[in-house]
Amino acid sequence: MENVQREAMDYDVVIVGAGPAGLAAAIRLKQLSPDLTVCLLEKGSEVGAHILSGAVIDPVALNELIPDWKEKGAPLNTPVTEDRFYVLGPSGALRLPNILMPPLMSNHGNYAVSLGNVCRWLAQQAEGLGVEIYPGFACSEVLYRDDGSVKGVVAGVMGIAKDGSHKPDYQPGMELHGKYVFIAEGVRGSLAKEIIAKFNLSEGREPQKFGLGMKELWEVRPEVHRQGQVTHTMGWPLGTKTGGGSFMYHLEDNLVSVGFVVHLNYENPYLFPYMEFQRFKHHPLIENVLKGGRRIAYGARAITEGGFQSVPKLYFPGGALIGCAAGFVNVPRIKGSHNAMKTGMMAAEAAFAALSAGRAGDELSSYEDAYKSSSVYLDLKRVRNVKPMWSKLGLVGGLTLGGLDMWLNQLFGFGLGTWKHGKADYATLKPASQCKPIVYPKPDGEISFDRLTNVAFSATNHEEDEPPHLKLKNPDVPISVNLPTWAEPAQRYCPAGVYEVIEEAGKAPRFQINHQNCVHCKTCDIKDPSQNIIWVVPQGGEGPNYPNM
Ligand SMILES: Cc1cc2nc3c(=O)[nH]c(=O)nc-3n(C[C@H](O)[C@H](O)[C@H](O)COP(=O)(O)OP(=O)(O)OC[C@H]3O[C@@H](n4cnc5c(N)ncnc54)[C@H](O)[C@@H]3O)c2cc1C
Ligand code: SF4
Repeated sequence: MENVQREAMDYDVVIVGAGPAGLAAAIRLKQLSPDLTVCLLEKGSEVGAHILSGAVIDPVALNELIPDWKEKGAPLNTPVTEDRFYVLGPSGALRLPNILMPPLMSNHGNYAVSLGNVCRWLAQQAEGLGVEIYPGFACSEVLYRDDGSVKGVVAGVMGIAKDGSHKPDYQPGMELHGKYVFIAEGVRGSLAKEIIAKFNLSEGREPQKFGLGMKELWEVRPEVHRQGQVTHTMGWPLGTKTGGGSFMYHLEDNLVSVGFVVHLNYENPYLFPYMEFQRFKHHPLIENVLKGGRRIAYGARAITEGGFQSVPKLYFPGGALIGCAAGFVNVPRIKGSHNAMKTGMMAAEAAFAALSAGRAGDELSSYEDAYKSSSVYLDLKRVRNVKPMWSKLGLVGGLTLGGLDMWLNQLFGFGLGTWKHGKADYATLKPASQCKPIVYPKPDGEISFDRLTNVAFSATNHEEDEPPHLKLKNPDVPISVNLPTWAEPAQRYCPAGVYEVIEEAGKAPRFQINHQNCVHCKTCDIKDPSQNIIWVVPQGGEGPNYPNM
């Protein structure tokens, strides 16, 4: 192995990822002690560039972190005014009366926002308190001390060519050492994956579950815009067996955020999540809003769905997992940002107490204790059965029993036991020979779009000449195993069209990876049935450049 010489910098706390979790942790640390040195590293070209969320946010954690956020100009401008739930059929829609919904599902008091813009604002607050934020710094390696504890990370490696040689702009990167290191990478973090495996943090837990969320931002006609209206749907076009649903949030300035989530435990390898999303937009309930409007941005990101049963051990020697790197999304509410922030704050408090006692590099077990008596724990516990019930009983059974379970939890503090998730998402595909291919309508170019056209609206960019950040453990597997067994599902599950099987007359099929288009959603790392694709960070500043997602 190459012996690389790097400069090192020492901090009290090093945080990987400037999402709501990392930013809240950084702010809390500096609130507790302005003297602490805190460094926050972000792979996006700026804070917010890689943030993709709905988002209707519950301000509970923000109220606690920055009580005067309104006076400080936080971009929470649209209180939710109307909450609608529908079960869709191909052309009709059944509205569920709000009275049937347990109060925990209500969006009263929540705000429709761009989470990316909220993160940009949080970054300003953090910098104002003295946090050092380095955007464009992808953390590519975990560093360990001799005793095995996490010591820091390597970030900012640039200018390596595809063949491994150094280009003129080569930078070896820096070592950032922390007395504690917080991993706040969000869903399926690449360093989190290594740390969870190394320290066996998922032992005794259910496998983490995921969905793939795809989203477009639209500017719609003023006459159909209803600022503050929130709509969630289930059912068509997914059918009753595949889990998922949609959201449509009316923000300010005639902007509407429309998104679709497909649970990644689907079975039919012919399912094409992106095309399900495109088809969904033609439902009259949605098309009537989008018609005559303009799609401004597109993107995709996986979302953690394992919830209560899948939360790993939250600390390891030298640091902690915070936010969706551990997975704190409340699935029926499609909300995780409030819990991401709150877990960041709790980890910060644990680290502050440890540092004040002169400790460093050891286990922050008090963070996990705090989690277990926190609002996050209760939030996840009350809805713990919704996802496994849906997976096992389908839409109708899952919705009915899941609803009953949430009511019981809300009213009496207990539910119908704790259901298991079962298999990990990569293991749920049936062989293609047992499934029917699905024919999708062609996008019309007005309401629905083909993948590559849409990817252009994510402003994604990667160097042509750099080592691939989508690594195949065995390059033969896509064609020799995945193609005959599952009709190589990567061609369809990737929302950016990165993976192609090229079939030319007289030639053997070939697997092609268009890594430049990758929007960093992490679905391939999660869903590849052979677990042969490993997502690692490309050089910093690459990937999507979401303006306000
Ligand atoms: C489609 C969709 C809709 C959603 N809707 C809602 C909603 O309406 N309300 C809600 O509350 N929640 C919603 N969520 C969930 C919410 O977005 C997440 O719970 C929340 O963003 C998690 O925050 P986080 O800070 O843990 O991670 P993230 O927000 O994912 O932030 C992680 C950051 O770390 C960076 N990073 C990752 N790896 C590295 C690395 N190795 N080096 C440097 N930087 C790195 C990333 O670029 C990113 O900026 C939704 C999610 C999706 C996908
Ligand atoms: S290559 Fe993987 S991480 Fe990138 S967009 Fe496609 S599925 Fe998502």
